[in-house]
Amino acid sequence: MDHFEYRDGVLYAEDVNLVDLAETVGTPFYCYSTATLRHHYGVLHNACAKAGLNDTLICYSVKANSNIGVIATLARLGAGADIVSLGELQRAMAAGIVPEKIVFSGVGKTDDEMAAGLEAGIRQFNVESLAELDQLAAVANRLGKTAQVALRVNPDVDAGTHEKISTGKAENKFGIAWEDAEAAYAHAAGLAGLEPCAIDIHIGSQITDLGPFRTAFEKTADLLARLRAKDLTITRLDLGGGLGVPYQRNNETPPDPLAYARLIAENFADSGCQIILEPGRLIAANAGILVTRVIRTKQGQAKNFMIVDAAMTELVRPTLYGAHHDIGLVRQRDEKLLAWDVVGPVCESGDFLGLARELPELDPGALLAVFSAGAYGAVLGSSYNTRPAAPEVLVDGATHDVVRRRPSYADMLAGEKIPDWLNSQDGQ
Ligand SMILES: *Cc1c(COP(=O)(O)O)cnc(C)c1O
Repeated sequence: MDHFEYRDGVLYAEDVNLVDLAETVGTPFYCYSTATLRHHYGVLHNACAKAGLNDTLICYSVKANSNIGVIATLARLGAGADIVSLGELQRAMAAGIVPEKIVFSGVGKTDDEMAAGLEAGIRQFNVESLAELDQLAAVANRLGKTAQVALRVNPDVDAGTHEKISTGKAENKFGIAWEDAEAAYAHAAGLAGLEPCAIDIHIGSQITDLGPFRTAFEKTADLLARLRAKDLTITRLDLGGGLGVPYQRNNETPPDPLAYARLIAENFADSGCQIILEPGRLIAANAGILVTRVIRTKQGQAKNFMIVDAAMTELVRPTLYGAHHDIGLVRQRDEKLLAWDVVGPVCESGDFLGLARELPELDPGALLAVFSAGAYGAVLGSSYNTRPAAPEVLVDGATHDVVRRRPSYADMLAGEKIPDWLNSQDGQ
């Protein structure tokens, strides 16, 4: 469910007319809907309550869409944050998420990142190896702090998702091998400065079937029992993110959050543990669109190209993951449809937003909306071809605010310089 809909043939974000917004902000731009963000958070939150999970913490996975306006919107609803870098820690705190609701994931945390998390007093570190345990213990001892620790264990399940977003198989770089889990907890328990109190799993992203979750949860319940049998005090279970969303708005039905919550309850309602969830895509994907203008069309010998002012630099998912995003007109028209490859201006053959899309022939300046672009969209942008980052606009009802402005070219060049030796007199 989202709040992008047509009224009299024009696409609106909530009560904001996107033709008007494009005029004000310029294209390309991202547009996010507050009502949709709230709705998605609420659906998951209510599903947990309804399933009888009475101690849950939803830590929004900031990497999906880390605009501080988006994070702040979720923070006001009570969300925590799942972060993977020092930068994301700063974003989460700038957006008003209290440290007690921040969990720090990621396979490559540095000493500085660990220290910053400890100084801030974050809820827990999700640790992925024995070496990382040792390192975190050393940093904690140096600072005179205790780190609350979850071990990210790898349940070796195939999430049935794209290879680049699958994380829970034995061959992936993430987590501690299932067979090594008990020994890793014993190791952690023996280190001063660490308090191993949680189990963490995250098996992948855009998972569209509950089966892999079921397998992973059952294995986790078994591990919990084994750890408790060894007198380890486990009080939290972090079950990661990964719940899929519909990218084809009319013909996809990903798992129902209530069924997901009930599956969690089935396995863990009696565990006495707090349940931490780390949804990213579920919250943000369908809360955002990318609006772009047609530059011109080009009918090639084999194909028709619709060249637009957004590119892989704004939305890389189509070319990186082979991802499908619905593409629609911002102002609907009733004309003969042709198949178009919707491509950007970037000098790469892989620069496309959609292939063989049924659209009318459009005049330069016509507006298109690329749907379901709120997660892993703007955050994966680049400035390749010296393209300024697309602005991000957050809508709430009839109002909007530009929550990230488009940088000027001067902004873009500001960090660069011509080396001193080329400027010196004798540098010829
Ligand atoms: C990326 C990530 C998430 C969020 O995944 P979604 O598929 O967006 O829900 C959660 N936890 C960890 C550890 C991640 O790396």
